[in-house]
Amino acid sequence: MTEKKPRRISIAVDMDGVLADTETHFIKYYETESGEKFDRSAMLGIPESQSFPDKTAVSRYVNTAGFFRTLPLIGGAVQAIHTLMKDFDVYIVSAAMEYPLSLYEKKLWLEEYFPFVHWKNIVFCGDKSIIKTDFLIDDHLKNLDNFSGIPLMFTAAHNMNYNHHQRMNNWEEILAYFRSIRQD
Ligand SMILES: [Mg+2]
Repeated sequence: MTEKKPRRISIAVDMDGVLADTETHFIKYYETESGEKFDRSAMLGIPESQSFPDKTAVSRYVNTAGFFRTLPLIGGAVQAIHTLMKDFDVYIVSAAMEYPLSLYEKKLWLEEYFPFVHWKNIVFCGDKSIIKTDFLIDDHLKNLDNFSGIPLMFTAAHNMNYNHHQRMNNWEEILAYFRSIRQD
């Protein structure tokens, strides 16, 4: 009889605000469009869509071709995913259906920065509550609150005032967290 391999712990990882620095990109788009300097601290504790004087700006940017393809990386994300994949089943999970234009751009973006993530480990979806991994790393409460596993909240300006989920401030903290789990 062949021995069944023990199931590895699975981790779903969000893209925007976790792997990709959407805040910096929003600011860049806003400053380019308006010609005005934007103070990043104005985003603290405020939904992204309400952060800019022009309340239509964010929705316009996420529906602009090229926005998702040109997102900058969040520091440490590439190496951290690479490291986590050695001991865990890692899935990149994005509610990309909300912005249909983003679907192909997100795939190309992942191919550029995360070529070592197999396409079978990429999930573009609508409602993330269907995701049944053991962990979810995400910046948005709408995803974390409805998750059936263990939610980890990646720090973003918009979630600064919420503390009912375990907060992860950066990828170094996430690696330390999962290092301690692996050793248990
Ligand atoms: Mg996100």
